[in-house]
Amino acid sequence: MKKHLIITIDGPSGAGKSTVAKMLAKSLNYLYIDTGAMYRGVAYAYKTEGITQGTGATTSLNDMETFLKNLSIRFEFGEEAKVFINDVDVSYAIRTPEISMLASSLSQDRSVRTFLTEKQREIGASGHIVMEGRDTGSVVFPEADVKFYLDASEEERAKRRYIELSEKGINADISSVKDDMSKRDRDDSRRDIAPLRIPHGAVVIDTTGIDAKGVTDKLLKYIEGLEHNAGA
Ligand code: C5P
Repeated sequence: MKKHLIITIDGPSGAGKSTVAKMLAKSLNYLYIDTGAMYRGVAYAYKTEGITQGTGATTSLNDMETFLKNLSIRFEFGEEAKVFINDVDVSYAIRTPEISMLASSLSQDRSVRTFLTEKQREIGASGHIVMEGRDTGSVVFPEADVKFYLDASEEERAKRRYIELSEKGINADISSVKDDMSKRDRDDSRRDIAPLRIPHGAVVIDTTGIDAKGVTDKLLKYIEGLEHNAGA
């Protein structure tokens, strides 16, 4: 098996994708690409820059292409994704519940998806990456070497999101976390362009009741199995 694999991990929010993708990338010495941070970055810029670009009025979705063309946004990927707007690091500011919802609504826009999908393909083209999101195995890299789809019960996903936010020092109550998450998942699954779905040929893993290390071990085992069979 070739060594510079493209590995994708998709699934709904709270399924454990980010933690597992990070751990997997670390074990393989691959680059971890958090595509959600890219949608969040555009949402954050839309909220702040959108008001100042052009006429001073908030950019409407009709102006999205112009907005994106004039946008100074840069991503850096490592263990944590960094997003810079006009060279200012907004990586922490993109993690709020408000930006989660705005990212989900802007992710339905064709220009936004085209803009970010192109960037994701550029970053991942030479392989050696673990890319995580909603459409990485179905649309961004349908020919990826290995595709995973992680899911978990709604209860457990809400609990994980809540803990994740608390650890980042972001205030939220568990019931609104659950409501926001359900709405996002519903919208992400029902949108016309690149909806959240199990990519063709993906290995589906239910992570309910399994910790991140346990899930990562399963993925590693699967990849090692492929390498072993390819070498046999
Ligand atoms: O993964 P994360 O929760 O950071 O993603 C934020 C939002 O960005 C998602 O709810 C989804 O609407 C959007 N997204 C997407 N496609 C991706 C990654 C994220 O539409 N590949």
